[in-house]
Parts: sequence; structure tokens; C-alpha cells
Amino acid sequence: MSVPGIYHDGMTTRVTRVVISRVDDSLQWRGADVAGEAALSSVMPSARVIGVPFTLLLPDGAQLQIAHDDMPPDWFARSHRIEKAVDRLERMRSIAWVSVVVTVLALIALFEYVLPWTADRIAYHLPHRLEVAMGQQSLAVLRGRVFLTTTLPAERRQHLQALFDQFAHGIPDLPPVNIVFYSAPMVGANAFALPDGTVVFTDDLVKALPDDRSFLAVAAHELGHQAHHHILREVLRSSGAVVVFGMLTGDVTSLGGMTAAIPAFLLGNHYSRDFEADADSFAFQTLAAHGIDPAAFVDAMRALEKVHPELAADKQVRYLSSHPVTAQRIAKAEAASMAFRQRHAVAR
Ligand SMILES: [Zn+2]
Repeated sequence: MSVPGIYHDGMTTRVTRVVISRVDDSLQWRGADVAGEAALSSVMPSARVIGVPFTLLLPDGAQLQIAHDDMPPDWFARSHRIEKAVDRLERMRSIAWVSVVVTVLALIALFEYVLPWTADRIAYHLPHRLEVAMGQQSLAVLRGRVFLTTTLPAERRQHLQALFDQFAHGIPDLPPVNIVFYSAPMVGANAFALPDGTVVFTDDLVKALPDDRSFLAVAAHELGHQAHHHILREVLRSSGAVVVFGMLTGDVTSLGGMTAAIPAFLLGNHYSRDFEADADSFAFQTLAAHGIDPAAFVDAMRALEKVHPELAADKQVRYLSSHPVTAQRIAKAEAASMAFRQRHAVAR
């Protein structure tokens, strides 16, 4: 039996058409100006892949190529059990579909789990000076545009500042934090946690909160975002694969894109429901640890509902907003308050 093929001498780029045949246990080829023979056992065939020509490596380094469909099945039948299995799989349509489905699932897993997981690892391990740079740049973008000079009296600010510092001081595993106040009519009663540890309170928020404890309740929630690096995690996740892989490979230029995304993120307030719930839990725990009834959080929410009536409804609005909806957050705060009061009643 003979099949057409191509002969490369392995040294030059010259290609010669040949006829290849098997005679007993040897392979023979013959073309215009080449001819040769090799023991079948001394020839190394390439893997059997549909549509790809076979390459037969000859003992002297030369090669023969045979089109995939021309290869007689018995020439190298016994040489590769795995290849035969692969070839069989490739011929089965159902297996092809399964592999498509597996690939799609793998991509979904990549975007749903692997990238967020990677983004989280990066957010927790980013050098602090980069977080500082991102925070400062974000603030620089917002200052003068969205964040205007505060109109709160100096002594009010100093009082809240001292409260905040004292509260944050004893919290374990908290990155360095500080609080600043801005007048921000565009965003109303709102608070923000920047990547460098800055917590921004708007004048409207300070005015809306009824007392020091409700101020600390909102501060504790923002500190929860700080403690868990929520803004970096959220922005990294939404920046997608390019930034994540860029940072994995040490391409710091991808940080630029991220920094640009932060002010937009802050103003849009798209923390995931999970992150808001995490920050709430953090707030309840730290309030209780400071001897403050988490009911202070309920007071804060109710006060904010008054200045932002739309918060009460499940709408896409800012800050103490729809994720999770205010009613659910209040219910959780009340449960935390109940537990707090029970513990204190027992202790008394
Ligand atoms: Zn939040």
C-alpha cells in the first residue's frame, strides 16, 4: 500500500513530493531525486490530531509528512494508545459538545470566582504606599468638584475627629485611617472610604445624624469598608481581567486605570450587597466592643431615611442605600442590639 507524502531532509527548506509505502516492517519513500528506507520501529510518528498532517521523524533527522486522512491505520496502530483514544474522542460529536460546555463553565468560573479571588488577594497585599497614592489621587479629582470646603464649625469637627480617632484606635487589624469633612451638595448625606484609609463625611451627613453614637455607627460601617479593603476589591473586580493580570505580572501601569475608576465608583456607590452586609456586621461588632449599643446604627439609618426619603424604598440610590435595603439592615442592627443588651444584662 502506498500513500503520497512530503519529504524534508531536516537541513534545508527543500520539500520533495514522495510516494511512501510500507513493505513488511519497513517504510520506503521514493521521489524525483530522493529515495530511502527505514525500519518502522525506528520511525517516530507525531500525535494523531484531526486535520493536522502526520510528521514521521526518521532516524537521520529527516521527516516525512502524510496528510491526516491518508495515513493507513495499521502503520503505527500500536504505537500510541493515548493518541488513539484522543483521536476517537475527537471524532465523537457529543464529546466535542461536552468540551465546549466545560470550556464555557471554566470561563464562567474564571470570571465569577478566580478573578474576584485574585482581586481580593491583590487588594489585601497591595503595598500601602500604592493605596495612599490611589486615595490621594482620587481625593484630588473630587476636591473642588464634588468635595467642597466644609462649613461645619471647627469645634464640631474637632469633637467628631477626636471621637473617631479614639474609636478607631483600639480596633485590631485596621489599616491607618483618618477622617475628613467636606461640603458636598451633589452627593447629599453621604460617607466614603478611600483606599488610603481616608473616611470622608459630608456636612449633610454630620448634620443629619442625631448624636455622637449614631455618628460612630456610620463611622464604624465605613471602617468596616476600610478593614476589608472593599473599595480596592470592588474596583479591581470591576476593572476585570486586564488589571488583575496586569498587577499579577507586576505591570503597575494598570494601576492608573484603577485609580481613574475610583472616583466614579465612589460617586456611583456600587458596593456589592455582600460588602455592605460585611461592613454592617463589622459596625455592630466594633460598636458593641466599645460598649455602644448597635441600636445607634438604627438611629443613624432612621435619621438618614428622613433626609433621603427615597432610601426607604428599594431603589438604586446612594449611601445607606438599597443594598441591602434599609429595612433589612435595620432588622439586622436591631438583632445585634438585642444580643448586646442581653449580654450586658447578664454582665450586670
Ligand atoms: Zn457601605
